[in-house]
Amino acid sequence: MNRDRLELEFLGTGTSSGVPQLRCGCEVCRSTDSRDKRFRTSAIVRYRGKNILIDCGPDFRTQMLRASSQDLDALLITHIHYDHVGGLDDIRAYCLGNTFPIYARADVIAQLREKLPYCFHPNPYTWVPLLEPHSIVDNVPFTLGDIEIRPIPIKHFKMPIIGFHIGPLAYITDCKTISDDQVERLRAIPLLVLNALRVQDHVSHLNLEQALALIERIRPGRAFLIHMGHDIGLHSRVSAALPENVALAYDGLVVQV
Ligand SMILES: [Zn+2]
Ligand SMILES: [Zn+2]
Repeated sequence: MNRDRLELEFLGTGTSSGVPQLRCGCEVCRSTDSRDKRFRTSAIVRYRGKNILIDCGPDFRTQMLRASSQDLDALLITHIHYDHVGGLDDIRAYCLGNTFPIYARADVIAQLREKLPYCFHPNPYTWVPLLEPHSIVDNVPFTLGDIEIRPIPIKHFKMPIIGFHIGPLAYITDCKTISDDQVERLRAIPLLVLNALRVQDHVSHLNLEQALALIERIRPGRAFLIHMGHDIGLHSRVSAALPENVALAYDGLVVQV
């Protein structure tokens, strides 16, 4: 692959409950279309020789068993919600005699230290994940190898969280609002990944209509929607009604830009 090509593999494209949702018998949850089966939202970005995981939810282990490659060099975390960090214990597989770098806001790292203290202290008796935390700050680019990554400030209702601007990609999940200034900075980006929960409004996530309106303002080359619930509707039916440069992502989809 060309060094400056970026590859994105969607490991999961579902909301916090996943799809099918437990104890639901709706048309989407009963669908036999594999694109209607959604693990919790996460992705791998492969760019300039690095394999970067974005979020590590409770389906992480199963997702990695299905991924096209199990190589990972670092983890970027968007926010502390369980559907984005619930798989961290399984990072132990990447800590054989070394620490594993994670990048997140300082408040997220502080909460992880509290929730998972054993992941931050070497323990000679058991095999545990050993996380090497790096605090990152809104809009201040940091580097991974020779990749520059900018944390994009967004709001998940009242909670400040981040998306990631990596070369030709902007990856945004769990967004409800984003400032005009950020829209300006992302304008015409080649590849945009954005959350769209469902058709109805929701307090902390963009719905489909709001996501499409934001895409129209950013005007990316291509856009893929993620973090969908069962109430977004059937993949095949929703896809047919989307603008030409917008698609619903699905688990296992790989795109290059
Ligand atoms: Zn979420
Ligand atoms: Zn969330």
